[in-house]
Amino acid sequence: MGFPITRLRRLRQSEQLRSMVRETRLSPASLVYPMFVCPGEGVRKEVRSMPGVFNLSVDEAVIEARQTHSLGVPAIILFGLPEKKDELATGAWTEDGIVQQAARAIKGEVPKLVIMGDVCLCEYMSHGHCGIVRPAHPQSLGAAVAAPPGVASDYEIVNDATLELLARTSVSLARAGVDIIAPSDMMDGRVGAIRNALDHAGLANTPILSYAAKFASAFYGPFREAADSTPQFGDRRSYQMDGANRREAMREIELDVEEGADMIMVKPAMPYLDVIAAARERFDLPLAAYQVSGEYAMIEAAARNNWIDRDRVMMESLLSIRRAGASIILTYFAKDAAKLLA
Ligand SMILES: [Zn+2]
Repeated sequence: MGFPITRLRRLRQSEQLRSMVRETRLSPASLVYPMFVCPGEGVRKEVRSMPGVFNLSVDEAVIEARQTHSLGVPAIILFGLPEKKDELATGAWTEDGIVQQAARAIKGEVPKLVIMGDVCLCEYMSHGHCGIVRPAHPQSLGAAVAAPPGVASDYEIVNDATLELLARTSVSLARAGVDIIAPSDMMDGRVGAIRNALDHAGLANTPILSYAAKFASAFYGPFREAADSTPQFGDRRSYQMDGANRREAMREIELDVEEGADMIMVKPAMPYLDVIAAARERFDLPLAAYQVSGEYAMIEAAARNNWIDRDRVMMESLLSIRRAGASIILTYFAKDAAKLLA
């Protein structure tokens, strides 16, 4: 039945009608607020490329966590800027690591707030890669000719040895009060290794939210400033996914599910809405999406120029991620969105 019997505008005539037939709704209950914790006291240093986002010392992080919770946002995810970096990412897994300190302090003051702990090594490694690095030698004469010394192929990110550090980090974070372990490194087999380590440490009830399909994206730029995690050489394309591959993303997710992930994530969000939608169709686990720093920075920058209506674009961007199928959204807009939704 077409026009003139069918007129879709009939149900758009008023906000009451539009609200009644709305297919997708946002709620603060689905938002997670990312926070960057740094050493010191009373530190609240704004990230240049992410206005409104700060590096916070533990005492300030507690204040921020309390405020976030009071706005109805149920969860935060913690990233750490350690005092010192080294080749073994000691700051990631040591008992007095910066995220461990923050988790203990926040759990003590805001016990009902769910704390997710990002598990990766890049913020703690002197070279800024997500895993252990070792020199690699060209495999063949052809490869040696194709890749002269000094370029990307003369090092390698060692997968299996890295798993041990990721597992150690996860156990340490869970012991410090982190409720959900969220590995973001993209090493093969890390979900299984982490599950195994948690179970052996008596932490069988700690869930894993895996960054299952994490793409090598230029949209992470501002985050690297926020978390001081820019690789000192090369890039992350040997472990993060190629942005062109949706089918491979399904394989990545499937493997993480088999290894014991309780929840899965697609990252970034807006440039990968089709991947979110495909994952929603195919998997029945809770699905998260990370609206990353570059997505946030673009909206903030345009709004600061009065080129767009910040609040409306913010809400529309979150709605698009929700509509694509993500039930959980990690976003730097979490607090502001929750205020608008209140
Ligand atoms: Zn990393």
